[in-house]
Amino acid sequence: MKIKLISAALAALTFAPSTALAYSYTVAPGDSLWKISRKFHTTVEMLKTANQLRGDLIYPGQVLVIPGLPDGGNDSASPSPPPSFRDGVFPLPKGAYQPFSDNFGDTRTWNPGGPSVRRHEGVDIPAPIGTPVYAAEGGTVINKGWSEYGGWRITVRVDPSTVFYYAHLSRYAGGTDIGATIKKGQIIGYVGNTGYGPVGTSGKFPPHLHFGIYKTGGTSWQAIDPYPYLKWWESRR
Ligand SMILES: [Zn+2]
Repeated sequence: MKIKLISAALAALTFAPSTALAYSYTVAPGDSLWKISRKFHTTVEMLKTANQLRGDLIYPGQVLVIPGLPDGGNDSASPSPPPSFRDGVFPLPKGAYQPFSDNFGDTRTWNPGGPSVRRHEGVDIPAPIGTPVYAAEGGTVINKGWSEYGGWRITVRVDPSTVFYYAHLSRYAGGTDIGATIKKGQIIGYVGNTGYGPVGTSGKFPPHLHFGIYKTGGTSWQAIDPYPYLKWWESRR
């Protein structure tokens, strides 16, 4: 993601005079206004207004003005508190992972039956194989084992309508069997690069922790963007 600060003067000419700062963003293949709005914590309508777009069509290489940018749109700004789980812990040790961006909603094409487009239902945090993974909140292990997508993964119910999902692990920590009670901050496993194939597949992508949050209150699980939570936890450690 390439972000350039453009001058406040130019921004003022471009759109709302109340906007102090604006950023430009070059559209990448696979982008949509929705995806860009998620990345920068703005809305499709604000993007269309700022760029005087009549429709939703954008093209790779197009330079868009990113309006507004409240906290969270800028990685260097102090993150805003998320709506819940404000007392959570960041799931990887300080200094043990690489910078990460909000890639929730990005296009993914790997599927067990062959390529097809789907949306990335979490955020990836690059880290070396073997890095400990902490439970971001306490809860109960409700699923564990191999997933063709997530490799060695573990799912923890953290409240009656929410689960946290940790994927691509190299191995599990003890005390994490299905039904086990997990404490916040407890080591539940270790970073790996497993998944994208039959049981035991690894090395199909660089090692990272995939962290997801699902709301489970309705008839089907719905992924929400974990990025604001992760940035909040990271800022409070
Ligand atoms: Zn992922």
